[in-house]
Amino acid sequence: MKQIKILIAGAGISGLAAAISLSGKGIPFRIIEQKKEWEKRGYAMAVQGEGIDAAASLGIIRDIRTTGVKRTLKKIETYNGKLVTSRVPEQQGENYTVTRNFLHTVLARKVSNVEFGLSIKEASYTGGKQHVMFSNGTEDTFDLIIGADGINSPLRDSINTGSSIRYAGIGVWNLMIKDYFPDSIEIWDKNTLIAFYPLKEGTSVSLFSRLPGTYFSSMEERKNYILARFKGYRQKAVTSLLQNAEPDIFFGSVRNVQAPVWFDNGIILIGDAAHGVSPLSGMGANLAMADAVGLAEILSSGFSSDATHNNLMRFINKRKAAAEKAFKTGNRRKKRAFLQAPFTLFRNHRINSRPWRY
Ligand SMILES: Cc1cc2nc3c(=O)[nH]c(=O)nc-3n(C[C@H](O)[C@H](O)[C@H](O)COP(=O)(O)OP(=O)(O)OC[C@H]3O[C@@H](n4cnc5c(N)ncnc54)[C@H](O)[C@@H]3O)c2cc1C
Repeated sequence: MKQIKILIAGAGISGLAAAISLSGKGIPFRIIEQKKEWEKRGYAMAVQGEGIDAAASLGIIRDIRTTGVKRTLKKIETYNGKLVTSRVPEQQGENYTVTRNFLHTVLARKVSNVEFGLSIKEASYTGGKQHVMFSNGTEDTFDLIIGADGINSPLRDSINTGSSIRYAGIGVWNLMIKDYFPDSIEIWDKNTLIAFYPLKEGTSVSLFSRLPGTYFSSMEERKNYILARFKGYRQKAVTSLLQNAEPDIFFGSVRNVQAPVWFDNGIILIGDAAHGVSPLSGMGANLAMADAVGLAEILSSGFSSDATHNNLMRFINKRKAAAEKAFKTGNRRKKRAFLQAPFTLFRNHRINSRPWRY
């Protein structure tokens, strides 16, 4: 079989998963990361669904099972402290909550050749190869570049016209607090959602709020808007949450990416570069790992151009369907939590009269 040479751009969750999977198949690769060192930030992240199989294939399932917190009782309350539901979700296979930091660390332990502080300065596709000039002035040639460069992916922009990023109209504050909440709790209000995710090291809190779009001129204004939105919560006033929080509090606007083209000119996109899903779907890291594992499987069966092209297109169609499902889950969860009275009565009745999934 013809030996192929691959460049993985980005050493986040999908890039590291791709590196581990390619190593397992004996396929040579280089992996670059634009940051000079790992960014240690990270809050709650679910490992579930196809992410469980991917984690098993990547050899990290034991770490996940040991350190992850299984979802047990889930409570949903309203802004005023009224219980909407308190149930153990129906068993839907294994499901763990870990920090992003943890997941990244266990993957990174298995990859020793990350080249830090390096990115692609220029890439040109000729004769079926990608000729790459790196940010440090060196050059190399590859059969394939795996674009694992996250939600702002420059590689995505190089094979798609225009930006594929859409703002979901929601802002999110993520923070870690030391208090331990044994159960998963969500507090729902018409334009806000607070989610408490128990972890071994404390509790990860995410505060989601609908952002009225255009009239914020700065990030600071958005932050202040969210703080004001959450001020009166009964469960734990946001101000006291903030007082107890670890210093690294993250604020961002939720963005969705659905890149039309995932494979062109010797570049294939995986993870958030191809499909940035809402954190409310709980699927971002799972899709990313499953993309990487599936891609390595395809590449291990050869790289003759026609067959590879057809196989990759089939793979992409399958992955697009998985991402679509996650988009729908994220939207459904947002709509359900943000619903306004009087529809909430109907919603609460439905939640309590049907099998509870999430
Ligand atoms: C620091 C950080 C913290 C996060 N925290 C959370 C969290 O708490 N909860 C959650 O659900 N999700 C979090 N995410 C997002 C989550 O990791 C992703 O949604 C998901 O795991 C998909 O992984 P990915 O590999 O596609 O993207 P990412 O994990 O974002 O990785 C992309 C990587 O590519 C690198 N990169 C970007 N551009 C280039 C370039 N031009 N050249 C080389 N490298 C490049 C980035 O530095 C990054 O390391 C976080 C992401 C990051 C980067």
